[in-house]
Amino acid sequence: MKFSAIAEVFDKLESTASRLEMTSILAEFFKTLEPEDIKPIIYLTQGKIAPDFAGVELGMADRLVAKAIAFTVGETESSISEMMIKLGDPGTVAEKLIADKKQMTLFSETLTLGRVISSLTAIAQTEGRDSQGRKMKYLSNMLHDSDPVEARYLCRIVTGRMRTGVAAMTVLDALALSFADKDARPEIERAYNVTSDLGLVGATLAGHGMAGISKIRVKLGNPIRVMLAERLPSLAHILEKMGGECAMEYKYDGIRVQAHIGPDGVKLYSRRLEDLTSNFPDIAESLKSRLNGKDAIIEGECVAIDKEGKMMPFQTVTHRRRKHGMDDAVNDYPVNIFMFDILYLNGKDLTTLPYTERRKLLSDSFSISGKIGLTTMMLVSGPEEAETFFEDALRARCEGIMAKSIGRESVYRAGSRGFLWIKYKKDYSTNLMDSFDLVVVGAFYGMGKRAGKYGALLMAAFNHDTGMYSTVCKLGTGFDDAFLDELPEMLDPYKSEKRPLSVDSKMVPDVWFEPTLVLEVTGAEISVSPIHTAASGIEGEDSGIAIRFPRFTGRVRNDRGPDQATTVEEIEEMYRLQPGKSEFGDAKDL
Ligand code: ATP
Repeated sequence: MKFSAIAEVFDKLESTASRLEMTSILAEFFKTLEPEDIKPIIYLTQGKIAPDFAGVELGMADRLVAKAIAFTVGETESSISEMMIKLGDPGTVAEKLIADKKQMTLFSETLTLGRVISSLTAIAQTEGRDSQGRKMKYLSNMLHDSDPVEARYLCRIVTGRMRTGVAAMTVLDALALSFADKDARPEIERAYNVTSDLGLVGATLAGHGMAGISKIRVKLGNPIRVMLAERLPSLAHILEKMGGECAMEYKYDGIRVQAHIGPDGVKLYSRRLEDLTSNFPDIAESLKSRLNGKDAIIEGECVAIDKEGKMMPFQTVTHRRRKHGMDDAVNDYPVNIFMFDILYLNGKDLTTLPYTERRKLLSDSFSISGKIGLTTMMLVSGPEEAETFFEDALRARCEGIMAKSIGRESVYRAGSRGFLWIKYKKDYSTNLMDSFDLVVVGAFYGMGKRAGKYGALLMAAFNHDTGMYSTVCKLGTGFDDAFLDELPEMLDPYKSEKRPLSVDSKMVPDVWFEPTLVLEVTGAEISVSPIHTAASGIEGEDSGIAIRFPRFTGRVRNDRGPDQATTVEEIEEMYRLQPGKSEFGDAKDL
């Protein structure tokens, strides 16, 4: 298949912000494909050549891509770099220059999907001496044979800037439309939730229909999309929602891992399903040696521990997320895992069992000692018990508690946030319910001490229904000097010439960014705002909601993709739960 046909579809997708339109463009396209092409094409719509958990990194630096473009079109590297600064995106630069060059090119070979995938695979796999030079060659060979639109997407894919805005849920909608009917959508989503592999789901559906999809099961090595908790404003509300009794567990403040323990070894995945095995080799080893069984998938929270065995704050365990010097970090920052769920054991999917059965299997399947522990848990049936347990959790340096349903329906709901788990944190006792994980979509240049740097950021929440990012606040506090210095390096790769189509904003910042970086933010309250676009229309035509007095907590949520940020719906819910809602007009000082 010609790559130009795929690039043309990407171009169409990029020119619409409507999720419905994207779905129908994709659905029409999928129908025309051979089943074997669906998998790689689905990965490419996400700017990848493999599912996230496979850890295949294309990640070419802009300088290397500038070199490849320069080599292809016969320009100097410095002129390409200058154009990149002006246009903000190597893809746009390549498109422009290849368009000019085309008139001169005589010999070129058509780019096929197969060739693009094998060249991208080679770029991802090339290591060692002169690897940069070879990666550059692979890209320039493709650029030599590209038309301008193909060049735009090749450069965006290799630099991690694919901007078609196609969310995973849109791909699932399109697959259902192309190969099944609407009623099949939940079953298709289930297959995605248990495998985290959109390409696999697409290929199975195209090749074997719904019969194939219904055979997809939890599998060792394929991370399961994580289950998440809802929140309520008090322990009494939680107990009521749980029908008067539930299990309560300490809510540990560390890094969530999903461990796949098998005869051939152990893999640890983050909440975002990246491979974290090399960051916690000691945990992987201990899990393997303490499992009483053939294989298992468990979830737990990795928490740093001091010499006396006391839990350390979240920041300490993040030292284990570095790329280099892991041996030292393993010694310097000891970590324990507190396991809270088991999803698979000895070849059996346990996700459909109720909580109490899973908990028993979890505790029976491991020799609990050393680095391997279980979350502290208690069955609670009254408010005083709940209050005491919560206070104990805080004394043990946890952030609060997780209440878990113990009813028959208390299965592990992969990929969803619901009331089977409800979290309650110390911060909830203050006015605002929770911290938010917000996405940076723009920046304002600083003044005074912050001149020449970004002084404030435009922050957005994710709208699950539309796939858009709606603004909720302008964030200017909580940054220290070191963070402000690092910001341009963190954000500039995502600069966008104009407002990205996936961003819904009335404010116009000095610089726009593709929604990518997620920061944790606290606020004083949620109020109605004429300026921000989240939950637009909530209290009248022109009003959205905003977070007042937002403050950066210092926590960059690298463990979270933009589509895993706090959703507009969650903020709306917190707004409604606030004791006294602010009046329209309060937001003018945001
Ligand atoms: P937060 O930012 O509050 O951690 P989140 O969006 O990452 O929230 P939530 O579903 O809101 O996820 O809270 C669940 C998180 O709490 C889990 O992802 C896990 O990392 C952590 N956690 C700590 N202790 C437990 C526990 N006992 N059971 C389940 N999750 C726990």
